[in-house]
Parts: sequence; structure tokens; C-alpha cells
Amino acid sequence: MSQADKDATIARHYSEILRLLGEDVHREGLQKTPERVAESMRFLTSGYQTDPEDVLRSAMFTEDYRQMVIVKDIDFYSMCEHHLLPFFGKAHIAYIPNKKITGLSKIARVVEVFSRRLQVQERMTTQIKECIQNTLNPMGVMVILEAQHLCMQMRGIQKQHSTTTTSDFTGVFEQAKTREEFISLIRTK
Ligand SMILES: [Zn+2]
Repeated sequence: MSQADKDATIARHYSEILRLLGEDVHREGLQKTPERVAESMRFLTSGYQTDPEDVLRSAMFTEDYRQMVIVKDIDFYSMCEHHLLPFFGKAHIAYIPNKKITGLSKIARVVEVFSRRLQVQERMTTQIKECIQNTLNPMGVMVILEAQHLCMQMRGIQKQHSTTTTSDFTGVFEQAKTREEFISLIRTK
């Protein structure tokens, strides 16, 4: 099926959903909504089209640097796979190189690729960690995600504005001291 055919089919289904929800799909404001949503959903799930390990491999350099590399406050927007509602927040990533480093923008790009898929925050955290570990083979990597989930906030299940924090790590970050160094560095503004 061509991309255009897929988009048209998705739009048709959204039109049917709107009708079943009791909407008049012919009123002015909704006329182009199914097409717009189809296009928007394609963009929001475009991360399936990219191999995040290739993103890192495309900018890998040999360096003798053996200290912590930190990229903090990476904004991300993803969608929870249980409700198809957004969750969004910040990613903080640290790794200690083992002869290989990557471009800093590539770390942010990896977060973007995984976020533009249907996700749960826990899995996204682990996928980013594994991607960096598998590609750069560092001494250790640690990923922290802090996010707000609209499926909780809009549906009133939990306290408004509550933040969910997840973290995962490998190698030298198994030592509490190393994790504390990272956490204290991301807390400094
Ligand atoms: Zn959800």
C-alpha cells in the first residue's frame, strides 16, 4: 500500500471514529480533521523509520576522553501506547567513553527517534540506554527521563502536574557514587 493510500485509509477511519463519537463530520471545523490527524499521527510515529544505532554510528569518533559526558534537559514529546495521549518532559543522559564518543546532537536525536513511537516511559528509558551501550560501548551509560503524562492529568487519575521519573544505567553507573555525581550535575542550573 502506498503512503498516500495509507494516509487516506487512516483518515477514513478517523472520520468514522468522529461520527461514532456523535460528531457531524461535515461541519466546517471538522472537514479536514481526519486528513490532518492522519498526517499528524504519521509524523508522531515517524521514529519507526529510523534506526537509532545508525544515528550514533553516523558520527562516531575516537577520543581518549575518560570523564563523564552529560547531555541534560533534552526536551521530548512522546505518546503513551495505552491511551494514545502525549507524555512529555526532559531526558538527561550521561556516559563515560571507552575510546569512542559521538556528536552531542546525536544523543538528542536518539531521544527523538525513540520518542516518536508509541511508548511507555520505562521502555523508552531502557531503549535509549541500550542504544548507547550497544553502539559506543562506553564504560557506562545512564538515562533519566522526567515526564508528565496527559493520560493521567486529563483523565484525573493522579495528582495534576505530578512528574514520573525513570532511570536506567549500565557499567560504572552501578556504583552509587557515579550516579550521585551525574544527578548532582543535572540539578545544577
Ligand atoms: Zn497512558
